[in-house]
Amino acid sequence: MLRLSRLRLFRVCLNEATDTNNWEAICRRCGECCFEKKLDNKGTVLTTRVPCRFLDIHSRACRVYPQRFQVEEDCIKLTPDNLPELDWLPTSCAYRKYLDPAR
Ligand code: SF4
Repeated sequence: MLRLSRLRLFRVCLNEATDTNNWEAICRRCGECCFEKKLDNKGTVLTTRVPCRFLDIHSRACRVYPQRFQVEEDCIKLTPDNLPELDWLPTSCAYRKYLDPAR
């Protein structure tokens, strides 16, 4: 297994940019993307039960959403452009289904 500290970049938050309302409306607010990920020996991404320090684990909402990119350097914007590259997003993620409705 790789160290968790190397995998913090796997955190993701939503994009504020283009068509913000429509884009963000796709999210089902499950918060699964805000749990630490790690890789096993075969390179498979595994989701841990360690949440981002800013994730409210009860509501699954980011507690610093407006400032998330300032306070958490590993928070990643999820955009239509980078979505295809983020294959570590949970299979249940609404954006993955948006990208490939047949899944
Ligand atoms: S995993 Fe996908 S649907 Fe769930 S909160 Fe993250 S971006 Fe939204």
